[in-house]
Amino acid sequence: MTDRSSESLVAAAKETLTAGIAASGGQVWLACSFSLEDVAIIDIAHHAGISLRIFALDTGRLNEETYEVADALVERYHLPIVWYFPQHGAVEQLERADGLFSFRESLEKRHVCCGIRKVEPLSRALHGVSGWVTGMRREQSITRTDLVSFGPDDLNGGIIKINPLLEWREGDLLAYTESRRLPKNRLYNQGYRSIGCAPCTRAVEAGEDARAGRWWWENPEQKECGLHRR
Ligand code: SF4
Repeated sequence: MTDRSSESLVAAAKETLTAGIAASGGQVWLACSFSLEDVAIIDIAHHAGISLRIFALDTGRLNEETYEVADALVERYHLPIVWYFPQHGAVEQLERADGLFSFRESLEKRHVCCGIRKVEPLSRALHGVSGWVTGMRREQSITRTDLVSFGPDDLNGGIIKINPLLEWREGDLLAYTESRRLPKNRLYNQGYRSIGCAPCTRAVEAGEDARAGRWWWENPEQKECGLHRR
């Protein structure tokens, strides 16, 4: 049986980070969305003396509560966060042509919005880096069941993608957040369990999948934004 104590999960996360960074052979960045997962990774790396640089994608549609977590992280860990923004010309063209909520009209239009606001900035953020860290967990959704803890990321030029919390469950994460008194997005206290852009995220009902509140009008197998599946 897997040892699910907090100590063993933290030790496994450190091991994955260390091995993934070694496999990358160079500088590794954390793609931070200010989720519970990303905050836990920052805390684990900080206390283990593991060097991670941090970038974030400001899509222009984030919740205020998400920016508050970013601010709290800078204050607590004295971290530089490198922000990436969409190309303003592409956003102007999208909103002038299709309006502010075109992503609700079709999967294709949603992918166009995610492409402009997330995928293109991510490709700039990852340009020239050796590896990146994400907070993806296996139990989160049907789209994440076949993940590995680290390995080449074919979507991003074969750089090493590291998932140190792969086997963590939501309860493990909440317990760690609580025990370490980590900064936590206030929306989690309002029924949110996975937080992305404001218009594409809602609270979930008891018994619903954690990512049911993301693009809730789409089928579960389509719920990735293009950062992790294209
Ligand atoms: S999550 Fe929604 S608002 Fe954010 S980039 Fe994707 S479609 Fe656009």
